[in-house]
Amino acid sequence: MQSIQSSQEAIALENKYGAHNYHPLPVVLSKGEGVYLWDVEGKKYYDFLSAYSAVNQGHCHPRIKDALIDQAGTLTLTSRAFYNDVLGPFEKYLTEYFGFDKVLPMNTGAEGVETAIKIARKWGYEKKGIPENEAKIIVAENNFHGRTTTIISFSNDENARKNFGPYTGGFVKVPYDDVDALEEALKDPAVVAFLVEPIQGEAGVYVPSEDFIVKSKAACENANVLFIADEIQTGIARTGSLLAVCGNCSCEGHCERGSTYTKPDMLILGKAISGGFYPVSAVLADDHIMEVIKPGQHGSTFGGNPLGTKVAMAALEVVRDEKLAQNARRLGEIFRERMEKLVEKYPIVKLVRGKGLLNAVVINDSEDSSTAWDICVALKENGLLAKPTHGNIIRFAPPLVMTEDQLHECCDIIEKTIKNF
Ligand SMILES: *Cc1c(COP(=O)(O)O)cnc(C)c1O
Repeated sequence: MQSIQSSQEAIALENKYGAHNYHPLPVVLSKGEGVYLWDVEGKKYYDFLSAYSAVNQGHCHPRIKDALIDQAGTLTLTSRAFYNDVLGPFEKYLTEYFGFDKVLPMNTGAEGVETAIKIARKWGYEKKGIPENEAKIIVAENNFHGRTTTIISFSNDENARKNFGPYTGGFVKVPYDDVDALEEALKDPAVVAFLVEPIQGEAGVYVPSEDFIVKSKAACENANVLFIADEIQTGIARTGSLLAVCGNCSCEGHCERGSTYTKPDMLILGKAISGGFYPVSAVLADDHIMEVIKPGQHGSTFGGNPLGTKVAMAALEVVRDEKLAQNARRLGEIFRERMEKLVEKYPIVKLVRGKGLLNAVVINDSEDSSTAWDICVALKENGLLAKPTHGNIIRFAPPLVMTEDQLHECCDIIEKTIKNF
């Protein structure tokens, strides 16, 4: 293997030998620890993307690393053709942690979403009595649920969709945060599920009205339709509670099911469930739903393997022990307060929105201008890594292990950078 001497060299290699399916910021990272990343020239940065919220626990968390190394030397993969001695304990741990009867483990987020879609359809035919091949799933406009052929079929991001057809049918779109539109769509008796992000992350951190989740769940219940929460990005403490569907329930490190908790019929988790070490995703549901899946009807060679499941348990222990939900909630309030001051002072900053440590700053410029990108490049020069998302929006989502002092230092960096635009 060629060893990399400079950022330019690494970028040139990726350009020449890798498919161009991403447009990265021009920084080449070679080391991470906690809230920090270092590039190949040794420059240190604050990470404000956290690998799209996969490293909520911070980079290379020692406890998760130890679990990985320990299991890597013991047993890594058996396939599900046999039982193994980690999967059962993991399933018990995870279902108790999140309060469901059963879990179906997969690897990537998109696979988790695909799994939930399959379970929902099968439930619709076998439990709800919908005629074969007629099941419909309601989704929200501007959703992001992953990149597979079926998932992009119900995206309305033209760039993600165009020339990837023919598309998978059976999906109906309603505007996000619109309970009336949802209720209208639920009148169709062929609807089996409503699949939704409790906060739309990729779309630009759209936080719905306070009662959107509670009301949508109630509307689904009335229509005998499954409410599926995609918490791949919002879950695992990111938004200041264990899950975004926990609302403002005051859980202490572990959700204690406060009055505002909405229990989804299916919960999809990914990203931070394994703290950035190894891809793990999971779909959780109660028995009366999960029981529709029988041997041979769904699976994955790597899903539920001993290495991934050990890593996931360690990653979830860290979330609980280090009280990351509370920290995210507290620091999120400070972050938005500081950003509100920038909104008042600098016309280039239009607004800040978000929950916990999932926040976005909307830049006051046209959708197709490169201002957000240019600001991110300038932030990088000043030692902070963030990435624009759809339109002129910058998402700010640091690891949840950040301290208050570090956060203030980061807000100073953001202010110093914004000042020049
Ligand atoms: C990232 C993400 C996915 C897809 O996860 P992958 O691991 O990239 O397949 C699905 N849903 C949401 C809300 C996400 O943020």
